[in-house]
Amino acid sequence: MTLTLRSGSKTYPDGTVALTPTDLHVEPGEIVSLLGPSGCGKTTLLRLVAGLERPDAGSEIWFGEDNVTDLPVEKRKIGMVFQSYALFPNMSVRKNIAYGLKMQKLPADEIDRRVAEVLKLCQLEPYADRSIAALSGGQRQRVALARAFAPRPRILLLDEPLSALDAALRDKLRDELAGLLRTFGITAIFVTHDQNEAMAIADRVVVMSHGRIMQAGTPEELYRNPKSRFVATFVGHAMQIDGEISGSRLVTQGGSLQLPDDAAGCSVFVRAEDVHIVGDGALSGRVESVTFLGTHYRVGIAGIASETIFAFHVGQPPPSVGDNVRISIETKALLLLPEQADAA
Ligand code: ATP
Repeated sequence: MTLTLRSGSKTYPDGTVALTPTDLHVEPGEIVSLLGPSGCGKTTLLRLVAGLERPDAGSEIWFGEDNVTDLPVEKRKIGMVFQSYALFPNMSVRKNIAYGLKMQKLPADEIDRRVAEVLKLCQLEPYADRSIAALSGGQRQRVALARAFAPRPRILLLDEPLSALDAALRDKLRDELAGLLRTFGITAIFVTHDQNEAMAIADRVVVMSHGRIMQAGTPEELYRNPKSRFVATFVGHAMQIDGEISGSRLVTQGGSLQLPDDAAGCSVFVRAEDVHIVGDGALSGRVESVTFLGTHYRVGIAGIASETIFAFHVGQPPPSVGDNVRISIETKALLLLPEQADAA
């Protein structure tokens, strides 16, 4: 089922413009994440799609050929998974999943059939008769998904589905959630403020700021080809190397760098994984922090640009705080962003 938002906007009664007129099209079976900092309007967009919030006049929401703009939430046939899961703790897994189907007044044998189907799909068969209170966080998440999916919704909406979990479990369940959504083959939108989560789960990430979409694309597109300073820094923490552009070179505090051909009028950014500490690097700076992160060290270097430039250092012992180091950055690793690209 496609989902189309045309000029979807929302102004709350107190005058807060949570969403400026926004167009969004989601293909059948596509998994889209809404990513952005707190207050950027992602939950509002999700609630408009769900029918939990009325959009401003002029907004249109379509599920396939069906204009659902004025349809109440219970008639939209959507599935929702919330941060809290909102399961009934003392009921069994089976009863939790069957609950929504009973509300729909489906015949008992149809309910049994659908419950069995999602129990299998979500690998919950061994726990079918356990109460929710006796399940792990990961198992609860699967029950919440199974329950949302059992009524065969047209679209699945997920609001920060992993944020209540601790970090280790989150990483594991992220992959599991991505796998399950694809098994369902359902059109899904999920809200998150965690870029790793968005990138790992979604086919397409919609980056929002101040009530508007800044950029939408595959995780790779957003990472490699951000169109604005906001997207470059929010997705993958790009760092600005400021300086004077002189001919084809950028002259910074720490030396000079060869620029790509089309750099005029652009700001220059780089990501930490593209900054290499090497003896004959073109730029020099001083180490001001070294953080061990397991797979690599994150080395903060001052004196290259106005802000600290971080390098990921793998392997041999890292430099020490206070050391003078040289770094190199390949020209093709530089991200060029038009200086006027960001109002937000
Ligand atoms: P978070 O990640 O913190 O949940 P969000 O990106 O989901 O943030 P929204 O909840 O959509 O953001 O809120 C967008 C803006 O609308 C914020 O400025 C928020 O304060 C405001 N807002 C949300 N709900 C209401 C409301 N009922 N009345 C007035 N303003 C609201």
